[in-house]
Amino acid sequence: MSSSDMDRVADWITPGAKTVIFTGAGISTESGIPDFRSPGGIWDRFDPKEMTYQKFISDREHRKKYWAFHRESWRGIRAAEPNAAHLAIAELQNLTDVTAIITQNIDGLHQKAGSDPERVLELHGSLWRAQCLECGRTLRSERAFQQLREGQDIPCCFHCGADLKPGTVAFGEALPEDVMADAQAASLSCDVFIAVGSSLMVYPAAFLPEMAVNAGARLAIINRDPTPQDPHAHVVMHGLAGEILPDLPRRLSG
Ligand code: NAD
Repeated sequence: MSSSDMDRVADWITPGAKTVIFTGAGISTESGIPDFRSPGGIWDRFDPKEMTYQKFISDREHRKKYWAFHRESWRGIRAAEPNAAHLAIAELQNLTDVTAIITQNIDGLHQKAGSDPERVLELHGSLWRAQCLECGRTLRSERAFQQLREGQDIPCCFHCGADLKPGTVAFGEALPEDVMADAQAASLSCDVFIAVGSSLMVYPAAFLPEMAVNAGARLAIINRDPTPQDPHAHVVMHGLAGEILPDLPRRLSG
């Protein structure tokens, strides 16, 4: 990255410009939550083929494994604190019109950092919630994980007693339609789209930057490693989000 890259991004954010931030697992690695694809990431320890929605729904043995997998993630997510990149995004809200923070993350760290929960669009759900498979009620997942700690294999609904599912979107499960619709609307109407810490390889979420560019937005990508969408971006900054992103609110307020 050169300082002129961030200058260019700051120049795009003129008064009245609408900015969308799009984040992936890479924004949270500096908070101690591993991403999926890097060495030592989650897919080195769990088999993604075992974690599908179809297996969760059809087979209680898989349901147990699925909860065990999420129990491990929960320990890290519950203890994690937002890092400099999450805080920079929360600060941007005070400096410009951030119309949406679209995240693929399930860790709740944008809200913990102070970003407006109404504008955080969780495309892949949240591990802070669990949902009943029968009555559809949403519960705080703290209570579900408490049941696991007390020895249950699969936590159950306090209202109807049926099995719960973590509030995250499983492989093979449809994304929440209302959240996706809001994310698409924000992407189509923004002037600036900044993607941070995402491999931009997980679809349909990865269509959003492309959609924004086709509708006329400027695209900046901040990621440690190259992404397949780098050639379509107006600015690409390779490096750590927590080191690069705080420069943006500094420039906008300076
Ligand atoms: P990914 O694992 O596919 O890619 C992460 C990207 O982040 C990589 O390209 C890597 O180069 C980059 N990266 C890692 N550390 C970085 C840092 N400090 N600064 C900048 N870039 C960094 O993640 P994805 O694109 O989000 O998609 C995978 C799926 O992972 C998503 O569906 C998401 O739901 C899920 N996930 C979420 C969490 C979380 O909530 N924190 C953690 C793991 C996976």
